[in-house]
Amino acid sequence: MKLGILADIHSNLEALRCVLDALRDVDGYICPGDIVGYGPNPNECVEIVRKLDCRTVAGNHEYACIRKTDLSYFAGDAKEAIEWTSKVLTEENRTFLEGLPEYIENAGFEMVHGSLRNPLEEYITNVQVGAATIELMKKKICFVGHLHIPLVVVKEKQDKYDSWQLTDGDVVDASKFEKVVINVGGVGQPRDMDPRASFGIYDTEKQTVEIRKVEYNITAVQEKMRKADLPEFLIERLKYGR
Ligand code: ZN
Repeated sequence: MKLGILADIHSNLEALRCVLDALRDVDGYICPGDIVGYGPNPNECVEIVRKLDCRTVAGNHEYACIRKTDLSYFAGDAKEAIEWTSKVLTEENRTFLEGLPEYIENAGFEMVHGSLRNPLEEYITNVQVGAATIELMKKKICFVGHLHIPLVVVKEKQDKYDSWQLTDGDVVDASKFEKVVINVGGVGQPRDMDPRASFGIYDTEKQTVEIRKVEYNITAVQEKMRKADLPEFLIERLKYGR
């Protein structure tokens, strides 16, 4: 079975549509959190995820929008976008976000937005932080989001850890490692200096995860963000993927 991995969609409808178009042949979807925040189409993105029947964990932006976390934790621009999102979310979509778990475990993998040590807030940025999550893992693979950069941390058979950044077309073969923590990058606000929407394809039989990137209409999203009066910094960064 092939599963599309949709991380950090961040209310970017144009990016999400192009990613789903590229994922037409998959058998299902999973989402490591942050459907909303930053972008101009939170309701449309939540509704698509709901219709996909996509197993989803809550991200820090979901929690902030439904006021489960203190907003002072967020920087000015992010906070402004969260307040805007919170205002426009429909009651139905808010209820859906409220019901999202922080952690999902199934037969083959685990999934969390940040890390297993701190599901909502910790960024897995390097081998040391990744190793701390690996020590808590029950399954071979753990999918994470939050960083918006495609990155893998592995525990090799000899008890050695390694980590590297990934890009379009890279395939991680989890069968070669004892444990794998993987971030497939962000659909709606990539930060690896590549502005294309980033996503993944998980082959449950082969135990491989492929990183993919697609172009989308960035200008259209930026126009909508300007109309909604969202912060200029958030509008500009989409162009650079940072
Ligand atoms: Zn995010």
